[in-house]
Amino acid sequence: MAVEIGHYIDGKRVPGTSGRTGEVTNPATGEVTGKVALASTAEIGKAVEIARKAQLAWAATPPLRRQRVMFNLKSLMEKRLDDLARLMTLEHGKTIDDAKGEVGRGLEVVEFACGIAHHMRGDFTEQVATDMDSWSIRQPLGVVAGITPFNFPIMIPCWMGAMAVACGNAFLLKPSEKDPSAPMLLAELFAEAGLPPGIFQVVNGDKEAVDALLAHPDVPAISFVGSTAIGEYVYHQGTQRNKRVQALCGAKNHMVVMPDADLDQVTDALIGAGYGAAGERCMAISVAVAVGDVGDRLIEKLAPRVAALKVGPGIDPQSEMGPLVTRQHRDKVMGYVNQGVKEGAKLVVDGRGLKLQGYENGNFMGGCLFDNVTKDMTIYKDEIFGPVLSVVRSKNFDEAIGLVNDHAYGNGTAIFTRDGDAARTFANGVKIGMVGINVPIPVPVAYHSFGGWKASIFGDHGIYGMEGVRFYTKLKTITARWPTGIRSGAEFHFKARN
Ligand code: NAD
Repeated sequence: MAVEIGHYIDGKRVPGTSGRTGEVTNPATGEVTGKVALASTAEIGKAVEIARKAQLAWAATPPLRRQRVMFNLKSLMEKRLDDLARLMTLEHGKTIDDAKGEVGRGLEVVEFACGIAHHMRGDFTEQVATDMDSWSIRQPLGVVAGITPFNFPIMIPCWMGAMAVACGNAFLLKPSEKDPSAPMLLAELFAEAGLPPGIFQVVNGDKEAVDALLAHPDVPAISFVGSTAIGEYVYHQGTQRNKRVQALCGAKNHMVVMPDADLDQVTDALIGAGYGAAGERCMAISVAVAVGDVGDRLIEKLAPRVAALKVGPGIDPQSEMGPLVTRQHRDKVMGYVNQGVKEGAKLVVDGRGLKLQGYENGNFMGGCLFDNVTKDMTIYKDEIFGPVLSVVRSKNFDEAIGLVNDHAYGNGTAIFTRDGDAARTFANGVKIGMVGINVPIPVPVAYHSFGGWKASIFGDHGIYGMEGVRFYTKLKTITARWPTGIRSGAEFHFKARN
């Protein structure tokens, strides 16, 4: 029977009141397992009002005490790791080990937030002029919102939520309506960790909820992670209303394979980065650029590995790759594969026909591998977000770097080589936010912040780490003097300080 999933408001689970719901399915079986409430504008308004009131006391709570809540959250998330992972696997489809890894990546940001008292400390300068001192502090923004995608239902709410609340804000999470159960448990863990009611709330919903957050005058900042089309919309709608917006978006990550690279390492890297989580990662590698004469050897090594991928329900520990999130998304990915064939790419491994006994209604497909993909093809230009890897042949290094730089997206990239000079030239010259050298998925650790370039981001701030502190706080600078009986008279002109 489908469970009812409401919202998490004012420290408790509450049912939705809009009368609208969405279906949550188990991607491995196709079964409808939940009915998620879709918030109305009025429900968003109520949650913002609760957050606004609660935030005042939270902002006044010493950062040391705020960070103690983060320490508690860290140990609760570790304790409930299996529950968090299971909820994600049952609604997203990713393998259970990958889901546990995701919690680990979210925890890295919680760990960073455990040091918020240090990260938020101000700067003080004595004697900026005679008997005058100056200091800068960072203060929270108020009620901030986070709109998150389906593919990381715990990690991305931690990227935003842990940073936002540690900085003294109240955070309203609008998770993906496809897999809302894990974020609901996260909200309960925040509360159990000691966060006051109203500071981390979850409002489930769709476009109506997002539009209500964008329009609300008491929400001065919005973080978004999701597709480029929606991210651009959120950025424009938000900034038009003078909100601070960061929108981290879609990707088409290239891995440049140099002729001197260790091809066994490259093959392992491409299998993991291309097909892990069924390619539903913004940092997945979806294009391998084979430089010089390496293409044939690469295809020879890759093809049998792609064909042998163990595809199965994520809950089965033997599975290397689970199903796609929904039937609709699986069909869209298949459509891209059909299109690639039509446009003349060579489909070396065809995963379209995969059937799994007992899981006929699941959203499964096997891994697909294309060779001879060219710049003008739809499968090269678009983000597919599925288990489809395209190999593009490139005559030389300069052509390869040109491909990466000319692509509309700029999230992540990698180069595999034994040549330090080539690697350095690549890392310095490439127009991409996150670069790996013999590292296929270069997701930065929490204290280095995350963010792409070009159509992979709108806004000026990366997410988490010190970028998160900057995004979720306002800078205030105070200049002070305590004159002792000296009167200098009115000063009508600026003059050099002394
Ligand atoms: P999506 O854009 O469909 O949804 C993201 C969020 O926007 C969800 O909460 C959804 O409910 C909401 N939304 C959807 N349609 C909307 C509309 N018309 N108006 C207002 N809000 C709307 O993205 P998705 O399919 O959930 O996630 C996959 C995408 O996210 C991929 O493009 C992937 O690359 C991207 N992503 C990017 C990063 C990054 O850090 N750059 C990380 C993870 C995922």
